[in-house]
Amino acid sequence: MALVLFDISGYTEFIRLNQGTLAHASEAIAQLLEHIVEGADFPLVLNKFEGDAAFMYAETQSDEKRAALQIAQQVLALVPGFRAKVAELAGGTTCPCDACQNITNLRLKAVVHAGDVAFRRIRQFEELTGEDVIIVHRLLKNSVSAKEYVLMTEAFSELLDPAMLSGSRMVTEVYEHLGPITLRAFSPT
Ligand SMILES: [Zn+2]
Repeated sequence: MALVLFDISGYTEFIRLNQGTLAHASEAIAQLLEHIVEGADFPLVLNKFEGDAAFMYAETQSDEKRAALQIAQQVLALVPGFRAKVAELAGGTTCPCDACQNITNLRLKAVVHAGDVAFRRIRQFEELTGEDVIIVHRLLKNSVSAKEYVLMTEAFSELLDPAMLSGSRMVTEVYEHLGPITLRAFSPT
């Protein structure tokens, strides 16, 4: 199973969300999350939104390498696609509120991992559980200083053709109780 966590950042660093700006900030994030979901195609499936993040997964058993390539291409393309959508939203508003004026500060980060998960159904909600689900979330806290990036764990990136990794750099992060995790960091242009 492949796991992808998209996270939109930028607002909290620049503006204080108060009642006046909250509705417009929320609207901008909603449109951008919608854009991410539209840009994510088979084999990626949206599991749920988590605040300013979207959590997706993909069944990869039938052809792991082919699925990994499709996922990597989509995720890498979504970063510049997100930038273009941000520019479109910023250009489409004349509202002077903090949320609208700071749309251009919004950036997309993505973490991609491969591992084992279990599905748990509660009411109409399907929840993914397991250590690899925890890992993909914890990886959002890392030492990569870039404002936008795609991070792929070794477990995922080893499914890709080495040529696809040429533009990335190796990063090692250490997490309590998880030990060191080797990652590939991409800065899609
Ligand atoms: Zn506004």
